[in-house]
Amino acid sequence: MKTRVAIIGGGPSGLLLSQLLHLRGIDSIVLERQTKEHVLGRIRAGVLEQGLVKLLEQAGCADRLHAEGYVHDGTLISYDNSMFRIDFTEHTGTPVIVYGQTEVTRDLYAARDAAGGHIEFQVEDVVIHGADTDAPHVTYTSQGQQHRIDCDFIAGCDGFHGVSRQSIPLTVRREYEKIYPFGWLGILSQTPPVAEELIYANSPRGFALCSMRNENLSRYYIQCALSDKPEDWSDEDFWQELKRRIPADQAEKLVTGPSIEKSIAPLRSFVTEPMRWGRLFLCGDAAHIVPPTGAKGLNTAASDVHYLYQGLCDYYENDSTAGIDSYSEKALARIWKAERFSWWFSSLMHRYPDQSEFDLKMQLAELEFLRTNKSAQQAMAENYVGLPY
Ligand SMILES: Cc1cc2nc3c(=O)[nH]c(=O)nc-3n(C[C@H](O)[C@H](O)[C@H](O)COP(=O)(O)OP(=O)(O)OC[C@H]3O[C@@H](n4cnc5c(N)ncnc54)[C@H](O)[C@@H]3O)c2cc1C
Repeated sequence: MKTRVAIIGGGPSGLLLSQLLHLRGIDSIVLERQTKEHVLGRIRAGVLEQGLVKLLEQAGCADRLHAEGYVHDGTLISYDNSMFRIDFTEHTGTPVIVYGQTEVTRDLYAARDAAGGHIEFQVEDVVIHGADTDAPHVTYTSQGQQHRIDCDFIAGCDGFHGVSRQSIPLTVRREYEKIYPFGWLGILSQTPPVAEELIYANSPRGFALCSMRNENLSRYYIQCALSDKPEDWSDEDFWQELKRRIPADQAEKLVTGPSIEKSIAPLRSFVTEPMRWGRLFLCGDAAHIVPPTGAKGLNTAASDVHYLYQGLCDYYENDSTAGIDSYSEKALARIWKAERFSWWFSSLMHRYPDQSEFDLKMQLAELEFLRTNKSAQQAMAENYVGLPY
């Protein structure tokens, strides 16, 4: 087989890139390790920056998002049994949209299917060959048979555990990592959200987040020990613990119900540099991970797709390598800022096992500063709604 861009990974990065390229007449083949149902079963991000919304509009995949997504003009932050609000629209003129990653992915699959896009599911043993030559190719196995795709470029959109990043030699690749000493236990429940906007809560018992997908689907998280397992937590224990971590007036009106999904996610900050090796480009989680505090994971994946898409269009339409040559530098410049914000917001909101009395006082002082200082709120709002591409 032959294509211009071989895309490894059929998550949001790979699908969005493939759809945007298709609309500019640039063909691609997407290789996905799982089934479509499996990819659509993953409950992940839910807060979309305007940059991602615009890309989805460009991709022709934003109708349902505009019809069913929720515009959030601000967010709530609680500590010490009190709560304050940061108004995104007042500070930046821009809201965020709450619309689940599962739905984004569903819309992208629908668009690729409608356009006859080539996606291979359940592929195994994907290997990248000759990425540092002018004739790269990818091999993989499907239903016991080996296949080969010759291509101009390879987009590594295969997430943190994919093969793309590992294909870059260790002499070229440098990795930066921070592992946080806790995880997030999350549940999805068919109950109305406790508040109209997200509540990020710093409590003496640990962090909590009240989030949502729609008016009858809520997503709640509590900080938990890394050794915890989802089955250690009954629904009842989860709700009781959540109630202890949010302001009393919110806990009183919290509607509880059976969980329809329960999982634990570890928290990690991770960046690999560079994001390009020859004709291989890394996009999204394949290159970087942020802790979910601040909702930057899917949004940073989207900005990578934007830079790579622009670079590839420039290559095919204007015979220029300027865009692909500057891809890694441009993407990383924005990534590191999102990493900083996610690290800062995580540090502000969580309880750490080794936190001293002094550290706690610093956290409290910073929360007080954020509550009372307009400039601090503006900086927080600018980062939350997404820095410009
Ligand atoms: C549990 C969890 C919760 C999260 N919550 C949030 C959140 O609340 N807010 C937020 O902003 N972000 C969140 N994220 C992060 C966000 O979901 C990711 O940043 C986003 O999915 C990145 O998209 P991607 O396409 O780059 O990678 P992925 O979504 O990981 O997609 C990669 C795809 O590649 C496929 N693949 C992997 N290896 C291979 C291979 N060898 N061959 C072929 N295909 C392969 C995978 O099956 C997958 O479908 C969360 C992530 C996790 C894991």
